[in-house]
Amino acid sequence: MSELVNRLANLTAIRDRDALDMALVSAISDLLQPETCAIYRVVGEVGNEHWLTSAQLAQGQLTPTFDAAWSSLDLLPNLNDHPLRQKSVETQTVQHSEGEPSVAVFPIATGVEGASVLEVRTAGQMSSDSLRLVTGVLRLYLNFLSLLDYGERDSLTELLNRKTFDTAFLKASNEQRLAAEVPLGERRATETSGSYWLVMIDIDHFKKVNDNYGHLIGDEVLLLLARLMRTHFRFHDQLYRFGGEEFVVLMRCNGEAEAFNVLERLRVTTEAHRFPQVGTITISVGFSEVMAGDTPSGAFERADQAVYYAKGHGRNQVCSYAALIAQGELAQHAENIGDMELF
Ligand code: GH3
Ligand code: MG
Ligand code: MG
Repeated sequence: MSELVNRLANLTAIRDRDALDMALVSAISDLLQPETCAIYRVVGEVGNEHWLTSAQLAQGQLTPTFDAAWSSLDLLPNLNDHPLRQKSVETQTVQHSEGEPSVAVFPIATGVEGASVLEVRTAGQMSSDSLRLVTGVLRLYLNFLSLLDYGERDSLTELLNRKTFDTAFLKASNEQRLAAEVPLGERRATETSGSYWLVMIDIDHFKKVNDNYGHLIGDEVLLLLARLMRTHFRFHDQLYRFGGEEFVVLMRCNGEAEAFNVLERLRVTTEAHRFPQVGTITISVGFSEVMAGDTPSGAFERADQAVYYAKGHGRNQVCSYAALIAQGELAQHAENIGDMELF
């Protein structure tokens, strides 16, 4: 019993979603000693969904393994490669396999983040006590997750709020630096190369929307744009609303051209979208690569300059900070060269 209480106390001390998945898998492994215990997330667009391993622990293993969040989708197993997991997600019920080892799959419906499952493999059938224990711990995990979401997400759009940005940014720039240190041949098969990009998106003349249609309709536009953004970006890109009508994305891309194309498609999609009553809106977008030794404020400053440039040159456009520097349209500040951070 005290082991259980200890485990639960550890679980609720965590503030990071990935670490929470690791802790859940470790807790259940310690309590039940299964052959393996893992959390798998459904990622990718509808019709092309795959399983991403969020945390997996086998007996005798000390720490859980996981797929990098930016794993290439094509290299991950397809949704229907694992029918038991798929059925659990579709029916939101616990699924059991026939035969040995015995597999039990528990649905985890986390709303904002999409579907995932907890899979426990045991030598024999799981006892009803064990099943109840897993179900109980899962409920606690879900309640805790919604508490985290409540503190870390914007209530209107459900995008992340400013609070977690710095940590995510530093984690991203650190991951990038570590990945660069691993020789290409030693990288995990599912990992793609690429780097992080900081994107700022600002709605054009949004004040007019409020002035003409009222604040409530304005809020609806913000909500609908956030939804549009969520379907546009990939599962591992992190979307934020920094208050007002400004959105921030921390995304992973292979180079400036790819980043530009992704953002240009968002600009075109937004321009073409019909918002109830308001009709159409446009956005101005600025982006900059996250560099080694970068600070959040340094990267923001660059992306912000690119947005500012877009606003001053007709709006409804995507501007790359690096391209503007190369074209001599913007002057580079010494404190903004990433590695050469002056303070
Ligand atoms: P620009 O193209 O230069 O960005 O023009 P703008 O009108 O979008 O920019 P400005 O920063 O002058 O105005 C932003 C407006 O966004 C002011 C305010 O009316 C509106 N706004 C800020 N936060 C919210 C919000 O939470 N809900 C709604 N409905 N409106 C908001
Ligand atoms: Mg603004
Ligand atoms: Mg604006």
